[in-house]
Parts: sequence; C-alpha cells; structure tokens
Amino acid sequence: MDVRPLRTDAKMLGVTFQNSSYSRENTRVLVESLLAHRNVRSILFNDTQIKGVTHWAGHDNHLHVNMHQ
Ligand SMILES: [Zn+2]
Repeated sequence: MDVRPLRTDAKMLGVTFQNSSYSRENTRVLVESLLAHRNVRSILFNDTQIKGVTHWAGHDNHLHVNMHQ
C-alpha cells in the first residue's frame, strides 16, 4: 500500500520529504509503528534519515509498504 508522509500543518495534501511542510518526526513514528507490525516486510521511502526505510526511485512523496500475504 502507499501512504503519504506526514506534514507539520496536518493538511490533507501530499508532500515530499524535501518540502518544508514535511514532518520527519511524525513520519518516523508512523514508520516505527508500521515496522512493528508482523506483516510488514519493508518500506520504500527516500528519507534515509529515518531508520528502517529503503531508498527507491520515485519514492520521495510516499511510503510504499510491502506486506506478507
Ligand atoms: Zn511506490
């Protein structure tokens, strides 16, 4: 599934990790929550300051969550 990164202003809009409205801290909490789930296998996302994500072309603006079936 694809999930948008979180913003500092809580607006229902997309955002890239390079944007000033991007919230690394809130997105980090989301990543940690997803990775804690036993069905989550990997998360493709290009903010490599967040531990546990994998850099992948085209993933500046969404977290691509791969899950076991
Ligand atoms: Zn994707």
